[in-house]
Amino acid sequence: MILECKDICKTYRDGALEVPVLKNVNFQMDEGEYVAIMGPSGSGKSTLMNIIGCLDQATSGTLLLDGRDISRCSENELADIRLKKLGFVFQSFQLLSYQTAIGNVELPLMYAGVPKKERREAAEDALSRVGLAERMQFLPNQLSGGQKQRVAIARAMVNHPRMLLADEPTGALDSASGAQVMELFSKLNEEGMALLMITHDSHVASQASRMVVIRDGRLVQSAEEEEA
Ligand code: ADP
Ligand code: MG
Repeated sequence: MILECKDICKTYRDGALEVPVLKNVNFQMDEGEYVAIMGPSGSGKSTLMNIIGCLDQATSGTLLLDGRDISRCSENELADIRLKKLGFVFQSFQLLSYQTAIGNVELPLMYAGVPKKERREAAEDALSRVGLAERMQFLPNQLSGGQKQRVAIARAMVNHPRMLLADEPTGALDSASGAQVMELFSKLNEEGMALLMITHDSHVASQASRMVVIRDGRLVQSAEEEEA
């Protein structure tokens, strides 16, 4: 099991007011699985994703990543898990604007202490894989949305993470660029990478092997179950 969420709750506090956002979320993912999370805006999708990605902490509950209880990890250990086991792709790409495509892709390797030459080669490989071998020296503002997202995917996979987390990765893209992104995800999944993707688009979600629906902070395992 790559991921196990047990009774995950998240409550935001606004002064005296408590706002429950996630309510006893139980969810598991097998090694190499491809899962789509759907749900209306404000239902808690990004909150859950950020907790799974160790970017935010649950108020209560247990999160096991690759068998490790992350609540027992130090800040350094968490940073290490984020760096080596997880890749992130966001709707808004989150590239550094002053870094070239290859500079952006090299960043996680730099943080991981990979030497310069190795880093460059790995980043070149990753950019070639996403079809951007000719654009390595471009800055983000010289790239289209679809190209930017492919740089972000190259950055997310350059460390060969066990699991990729994607929060509405096609949300800002035209349909042709979105299709390219989905094709890349399918290839990565075929190679054994687990993928957890949030989407609003049922056509995009249908490419995953399993779909879960989140509604008002509660998870339902499938669209059918939700209707029942
Ligand atoms: P989704 O990604 O499904 O659109 P989010 O996870 O972003 O939803 O947000 C779920 C709910 O949590 C929303 O009602 C939002 O306003 C609230 N929320 C998110 N982040 C915070 C925060 N930092 N403080 C207070 N409330 C938050
Ligand atoms: Mg969101």
